Amino acid sequence: MTDPNTRAHRIDRMPIPIRLVDAPTSQGMVVPFVTLAHRDRSRPVWGKLDPTRLREVWQHKLCQICGEPLTDPAVLYLRPADYLRGIAVEPGLHPECGLYSRRVCPMLSGAVDRYNPHPTYHRCTDPACTCARWIEPEPAPGEAVRDGQPAEAWYEAWIALADYAIVSDPGTENTAPATGIDLQPSSRIRRLRRIRDAAPGAHTLDLLAALIATRALFTSVDEPE
Ligand SMILES: [Zn+2]
Ligand SMILES: [Zn+2]
Repeated sequence: MTDPNTRAHRIDRMPIPIRLVDAPTSQGMVVPFVTLAHRDRSRPVWGKLDPTRLREVWQHKLCQICGEPLTDPAVLYLRPADYLRGIAVEPGLHPECGLYSRRVCPMLSGAVDRYNPHPTYHRCTDPACTCARWIEPEPAPGEAVRDGQPAEAWYEAWIALADYAIVSDPGTENTAPATGIDLQPSSRIRRLRRIRDAAPGAHTLDLLAALIATRALFTSVDEPE
């Protein structure tokens, strides 16, 4: 999640789903399982991912917010660029963890128009904390290119847990390597909707919008919800 401090108005007392009642919180918001944090996890580095936890989440198909195994269906958040590449780089979520994130995450809720350019690190005094080794933390997927950039449109997709397959793209000269959920074929996307619009100045090539328009012509009775 992006730094909540950039939000114009603070979110106070957002209802927390039962799955997240024991999760650490910071400024009243749940600290996602994959977010980099001090040993005291109520002190996160918003906008940075913990590479070890991220590997664990991919390997065991865990929810990126609560860290528990995903259930069916899995909820994905993706941008048109992810769809073009065929990989959703944000790990999946439980539907209720997704609902929570969509409300509190400034990027997903549309409260901010730019990615947080400079997440800040502070060393803590806990000798058992790993922050002393945070010299060169691994960037989050796509982070190097998205820092400070105008927000793209974000979409919520539902896929069957059986279709939740992790793939790696080694990248090219112009694109960074990426790991994520295989989005091909697009028929595995069971439900798709836009949850925030692109900010002014963002890339506008949006094949996900086209996909929704196409699917609307063929709405079937087995669509979830
Ligand atoms: Zn969850
Ligand atoms: Zn620390």
